[in-house]
Amino acid sequence: MESKKYDVVILGSGMGGLSCGYILAKEGYKVCVLEKNRQLGGSLQIFSRDKVIFDTGIHYIGGLSEGQNLNNYFKYLGLMDKIKLKQLDVDGFDHITFRGDPVVYKHAQGYDNFIRVLSEQFPDEKENIIKYCDKIKEICAFFPLYNLSEETKELVVADFLSLDTKAYIETVTTNVKLQNVLAGTNPLYAGAADKTPLYVHALVVNTYIESSWKCIDGGSQIAKHLSESIIKMGGEIFNYSEAQKFHFEESNIKSVELSNGKRVEGKYFISNFDLSKTLDMVEPGKIRQAYRNRINNLNNSISSFMLFIVLKENAMESFNHNIYHHHVDNAWEGINYTPENWPHGFAVFPQATSKNSGYTKGLIAMAYMHYDEVKEWENTKHIIPNIEEDRGEAYDAFKKQKAETFINALEERIPGLKDKIKSVYASTPLTYRDYIGSRDGTLYGVDKDYRDILKTFITPKTKVPNLFLTGQNLNLHGVLGVTVSAVVTCSEIVGQKELMRKINKFVEENG
Ligand SMILES: Cc1cc2nc3c(=O)[nH]c(=O)nc-3n(C[C@H](O)[C@H](O)[C@H](O)COP(=O)(O)OP(=O)(O)OC[C@H]3O[C@@H](n4cnc5c(N)ncnc54)[C@H](O)[C@@H]3O)c2cc1C
Repeated sequence: MESKKYDVVILGSGMGGLSCGYILAKEGYKVCVLEKNRQLGGSLQIFSRDKVIFDTGIHYIGGLSEGQNLNNYFKYLGLMDKIKLKQLDVDGFDHITFRGDPVVYKHAQGYDNFIRVLSEQFPDEKENIIKYCDKIKEICAFFPLYNLSEETKELVVADFLSLDTKAYIETVTTNVKLQNVLAGTNPLYAGAADKTPLYVHALVVNTYIESSWKCIDGGSQIAKHLSESIIKMGGEIFNYSEAQKFHFEESNIKSVELSNGKRVEGKYFISNFDLSKTLDMVEPGKIRQAYRNRINNLNNSISSFMLFIVLKENAMESFNHNIYHHHVDNAWEGINYTPENWPHGFAVFPQATSKNSGYTKGLIAMAYMHYDEVKEWENTKHIIPNIEEDRGEAYDAFKKQKAETFINALEERIPGLKDKIKSVYASTPLTYRDYIGSRDGTLYGVDKDYRDILKTFITPKTKVPNLFLTGQNLNLHGVLGVTVSAVVTCSEIVGQKELMRKINKFVEENG
């Protein structure tokens, strides 16, 4: 590898890195993807316990029905006819519940259906639900690449960029329960009151309302097919290749040095991981301190504590929806948990499996957790199989106690669950920090804030001419957000109009 020079060296094989690799290899560039882990894919990674496959960071994907945005991007990426998908319940893909309220509120797929199902539950609110949906659609229509449009737009001109999600929803309806049902899936974007911009809420919920899908047997198939295609197109991919330092020739990066001492040369470099950690690889003087400070001062979204639950054979009938449960009548409060009331709400995602027996084999449960809760163990590192430092007994006890508390909370929402559990595995913010290479195990990267939208708007260009960024820290997180970010990043090299024209032509000819 060290003797080769590439057109583009991509650091990190998350959805963003692999999508960039695919696009640029298809455009004729000689690409190389460097991944620090054994398994490719970043948050697309899976693992299995007791023969059950668990996703680590992709629980469902939106926009995959024929003609929808991610379907078209996935066609271009050669994925649509390869990945195994299962559509969630059309009349209720997400079930939203509140402690003490027996009603299950449902988000349904398709805007007409979404309006119909919610209006049945809130009969006096139909006009307001329509108004809300119209606003979501209006905002989404504004973003050209979200809609595969070749148009370019100055985003700063959009008034809605400075709208707060919670405040906006409160203008739609005075019905407090409906407000919280509309915001009920906010763990999808780590939504916080008086912070999360309405455009983030809109871009995320729209994609799932359009259509919601699970990857059967896990999301890693996306990474598998993308990486195979990159290699077929002449690209190269190396795992166990941790980027550590850039070497410069005047103002441009000449090569990246790996933790094993090898150097990889390239004309362009694209980083798919943590922004601060990327800038740490740039020696002082090569980048303006003001830019470095700006990036280092960005806050990341909160992290999570996850339970991966293997269920006993034929113990729980299959269900085809996700659950968002809130412990108080305020969907925005979960993120403000205290150690005493944790978990203050949670989400539950059933795993979709090809071994369809009519029974659920695995559940993933997710609750917010601040990195600070595990800070005392931050000097340990654990990435199977090459770095397996023991974090110690106190950490194991912490995890065990949190898992027990969480299972008790789950039992309250899913009575009888405890008796159906065969085994349970847990992860903490440190797990995600180590596997993904972020600073703090963040769920979705840079936290967006409506009060200073430009500060949290990261462009793919950096102050180093041949260093670009991609991934969830840019426009939006999630499979769709990161795919769009890859197009934004590659547009810097290929040209946006040209790239979008080719993507649309490909979709038209192969659709
Ligand atoms: C718990 C959880 C649940 C989620 N649920 C969903 C969901 O249901 N649906 C959805 O659409 N999205 C979901 N997301 C978000 C989605 O998974 C991410 O936004 C997306 O996958 C991030 O992709 P990325 O390209 O930014 O790269 P990442 O997945 O962050 O990958 C970065 C890659 O860079 C590698 N790397 C880091 N440092 C180095 C280095 N120095 N050298 C080489 N390689 C390096 C990492 O190992 C990793 O492979 C979830 C995320 C989490 C954490």
